[in-house]
Amino acid sequence: MASDSSFTSDLSTVSVLREAESIVIKIGSVLVRDPETDGVRQGWMDALAQDVAALMKLGKKVTIVSSGGIALGRKALGISGKVAPDQIPLQQKQAASAVGQYHLFHGYHKAFASCGIVAAQVLLTMSETENRRMNLNARETLHTLLDRGIVPVINENDTVSTGEIRFGDNDRLSVRVGQMILSDAVVLLSTTDGLYTANPDTNPDAVHIPLIEEITEEHVRMAGKAIPGLSTGGMKSKIEAAQAAVKSGIHLVIANGRDDHVLRSLTEDGARRSTLFHALNTGASARQSWIETHMRPKGAYIVDDGAVKALLSGKNSLLPVGVKSVEGRFERGDVVEIMTFDGRKLGVGLSAYNADEARLVAGRQTADIPTLLGYAGRKALVHYDDLMLLR
Ligand code: GLU
Repeated sequence: MASDSSFTSDLSTVSVLREAESIVIKIGSVLVRDPETDGVRQGWMDALAQDVAALMKLGKKVTIVSSGGIALGRKALGISGKVAPDQIPLQQKQAASAVGQYHLFHGYHKAFASCGIVAAQVLLTMSETENRRMNLNARETLHTLLDRGIVPVINENDTVSTGEIRFGDNDRLSVRVGQMILSDAVVLLSTTDGLYTANPDTNPDAVHIPLIEEITEEHVRMAGKAIPGLSTGGMKSKIEAAQAAVKSGIHLVIANGRDDHVLRSLTEDGARRSTLFHALNTGASARQSWIETHMRPKGAYIVDDGAVKALLSGKNSLLPVGVKSVEGRFERGDVVEIMTFDGRKLGVGLSAYNADEARLVAGRQTADIPTLLGYAGRKALVHYDDLMLLR
């Protein structure tokens, strides 16, 4: 996270992206598919990879969320280009994505390889981001890749995601990924420059809005209905994604990504139009607000005075030695309350161990964990990054 500085800078897409340390870039289907050949727009992808490489040289972590699996598999399934995505039966979409996802990732693989960067394909379903334990595992996988300079290229696992448990659009998925990996900004690249006061295709008086500091009902109304075409979301899903992002302290940018090197322009000269939804200053990190808003505690760690001191005095994790007892039944990744012996609630956090394991290691030294559990687990019961303290 770029700490609080991201809230004091001047309010523009360029300044926000310059300061961001971790950025999620979402690519819409229309950008990756060449309607003439039904294949990948390889030249465009190559340019994107070059822009990402330049950002990585500045020390930024970049994660791609790309649509296009279904769009690139349509032809093989015999689905006409004229049929809107929401008109395609689910089984056909799933089959199309099984064909197209390969071509999509292959395109990214080639583009990044020519910049000397490894790309990793990550397919997520809704459950991985909603279930605590799975969320923690997916987050660790993504951090492991990012820490090694590998670019995750994420899409929804459309072949196995069924109707009621689908994200359906990658706008929402990219914000969920941003929350999961503590990104500072999410950039949605599609075929629109951002939000206008009216539909610019039909209304010559429509005015572009470069900055939105607070999303109002009026903005939601302006976004109107989803625009049909190859993409699933349209402006409505982008506004919803923006609402979720800013609440979690993540900036969200919408820009037209059709031309080559749009990302470079957005991060360097700002010549390109975009709409920046500025993050709300919640005072909490993305992870912390996610913990607070998404979850109900399943149990509690009752801690001793030493742990209270350590937790309140700085960026310290909750170690087993400071835990006097463990209450409730929970799994690794579930939210637990951190309580003092006399019943004061210090905060909540994600437990790195399930309740049975936690009971085995509570009150003991970290060095004893391998002997107690029979495997080398994590050092802390709740890592600092996963802790939300009430102060
Ligand atoms: N996951 C879908 C695909 O790869 C796209 C969803 C969306 O358009 O946002 O085709």
